[in-house]
Amino acid sequence: MSPEVTEAWQQAAQNFYRLDEFHDAVGERIASLVGAQAAMVSAGAASALTLGTAACITGNCEERIHRLPDTSGMPNQVIIQKSHRFNYDHAVRNCGTTFIEVETVEQLGAAVNPHSAMMLFFNAADPLGQIHAADFSRLGREHGLPTFIDCAGDVPPVENLSRFLKLGFDLVTVSGGKAIQGPQSTGLLMGRRDLIEAARLNTLPNSDTIGRGMKVNKEEMLALLVALESYLERDHERDWQLWEKGIQTIAEKLQAISGVETETYIPEIDNHTPHLRIRWNQEQIRIGPQEAIAELSEGEPSIEVVPEKEDLEVTVWMLREHEVQLVADRIAEVLESNRLT
Ligand SMILES: *Cc1c(COP(=O)(O)O)cnc(C)c1O
Repeated sequence: MSPEVTEAWQQAAQNFYRLDEFHDAVGERIASLVGAQAAMVSAGAASALTLGTAACITGNCEERIHRLPDTSGMPNQVIIQKSHRFNYDHAVRNCGTTFIEVETVEQLGAAVNPHSAMMLFFNAADPLGQIHAADFSRLGREHGLPTFIDCAGDVPPVENLSRFLKLGFDLVTVSGGKAIQGPQSTGLLMGRRDLIEAARLNTLPNSDTIGRGMKVNKEEMLALLVALESYLERDHERDWQLWEKGIQTIAEKLQAISGVETETYIPEIDNHTPHLRIRWNQEQIRIGPQEAIAELSEGEPSIEVVPEKEDLEVTVWMLREHEVQLVADRIAEVLESNRLT
């Protein structure tokens, strides 16, 4: 978090706010910044998935709100493309929903029935499915069902904060603690006013709700708002150049080591920033990628790399300049120290 964000946090900590009103006011301001009808701060994008789903099931019906996750007698089916099932869909299942998996437009049409509550789209899986984002939101309108898109990690580009609202999705979530660099425990839920109102009813200050454990404090609300304001004002081209420069710094340091090769790549949808893939000749440097990753993690300072990859891969978008150099030096040290002499 930047100094202005922690300053906002401090300020919120030292003042009184009517939490419910403040939640609304911050939401209004965020909505105007991103061009949404309405918005709210949630306890992370995962919480936004739960609250947005709850909103689609309960509307503003108190009896339904109190009864979740028991959804008997309520619409409780979520239509999703088979290739869009993902680990965060647990946050949707928390509401007592059942997933109806479809692959084609025809199957989607046939899946719609009076028990349908919502249609869910996992943006990073867009290339894997037959139905793409714009068509998915259009189909939702045609069938009279709300559409929810999870694009939690898909900013940058900054345009993605409003792109899916413009495409017609009824609910959109983005993490507050990723590129926006707000508190890690925050998220944005944006979209249709009636649904955001219903999502708010499903969480604090209302005690008998599915979302009451997903509390957001006044410090988180203000800090996320300030983080979002400064994110929108940033020079995004300059950020991109700095990331490229950081990647270049690490690449040059490592390419100077005999037997090491590096390759830059940019993930298309999520974590869309320059990444560096580092490979080496294991005849010359006798350590496997996973062992090198473990050495970096266990070293001092501990360095974490892109998780769940076969190769050693790093990014620099959350690092300051001196930290980029430190990462470059430390990777070089691990590789050099395992060189067969
Ligand atoms: C990170 C992420 C989440 C969870 O976001 P939090 O803000 O940590 O709750 C959900 N969905 C996707 C696709 C994500 O990348």
